[in-house]
Amino acid sequence: MKEIEISRAIIEAYSSRLSEHLENDVVIVGAGPAGLAAGYYLAGSAVKTTIIEKKLSIGGGIWGGAAGYNVVTFEDKDILDEIGVSVTQKGALYIADAIEFATALGYKAKKSGAVIFNLTEAEDIVLKEDVVKGVVVNNASARAIRLHVDPFCVCARFVIDATGHPAELVSMLKRRKPGLFRNELQEYFMDVETSEAGVVEKTGEVYPGLYAAGMAVCDVYNLPRMGPIFGGMLKSGKKVAELIKNKLAV
Ligand SMILES: Cc1cc2nc3c(=O)[nH]c(=O)nc-3n(C[C@H](O)[C@H](O)[C@H](O)COP(=O)(O)OP(=O)(O)OC[C@H]3O[C@@H](n4cnc5c(N)ncnc54)[C@H](O)[C@@H]3O)c2cc1C
Repeated sequence: MKEIEISRAIIEAYSSRLSEHLENDVVIVGAGPAGLAAGYYLAGSAVKTTIIEKKLSIGGGIWGGAAGYNVVTFEDKDILDEIGVSVTQKGALYIADAIEFATALGYKAKKSGAVIFNLTEAEDIVLKEDVVKGVVVNNASARAIRLHVDPFCVCARFVIDATGHPAELVSMLKRRKPGLFRNELQEYFMDVETSEAGVVEKTGEVYPGLYAAGMAVCDVYNLPRMGPIFGGMLKSGKKVAELIKNKLAV
């Protein structure tokens, strides 16, 4: 085995995967619980799906549970059963290990056919004839040290903002179209009951071609924050996948 063979194998495999996924049915930005769930359900229905994640690790806010206590809670366990995460019940809550949940969800999304590019940051959106058609991406480490490096584009018929509570893609739109959302993009004071239901109910298209899922929905509609309870994130990811599958008629 020569060193150069290892390098060549990596570069060729990555380049061919990237080149194949420059055009997609769906691009999801953010590999937290909402984005991964959306990816799992979309790719599982043969929808060509790419997930862009700026960090090295996928899972978003799952890993830390609450204040670094790596335990996560849910109000029901249907999706957890489906992806093979074990739970214990305490009153009305189901409790799971954050590490098991993050790895199982990531594994399922990947195995369903979603392609994930980590260390890749969406820095802008592609807007044509007032329809969102993709995202402008760059190497996240180049962005972190503010190198003057030009990005490239990843295109899709539909784009999902699953960036969590910065709602980064919606913010990009709002900056250039200040009248678009009258409110500031931010979540409201904590109230789990309202928020868990509200985030699922409001999950959907926020601009032609652009959907919001997960905590991004809270920011767009000023819904209350909900803390480390993750059922709403999974259901939001599942709902956005259903909405897009209906549009694609798959
Ligand atoms: C630091 C932190 C703050 C939290 N704050 C709240 C809170 O205020 N309210 C609340 O209810 N819960 C909060 N949580 C709890 C819980 O983590 C979230 O509710 C849950 O993780 C949200 O799931 P999500 O899938 O919507 O987004 P997240 O789990 O946040 O995942 C979003 C993912 O998108 C990625 N991302 C963001 N922007 C880009 C970009 N431009 N390009 C590529 N990738 C991108 C992020 O790296 C992340 O992996 C927080 C968790 C953490 C770790």
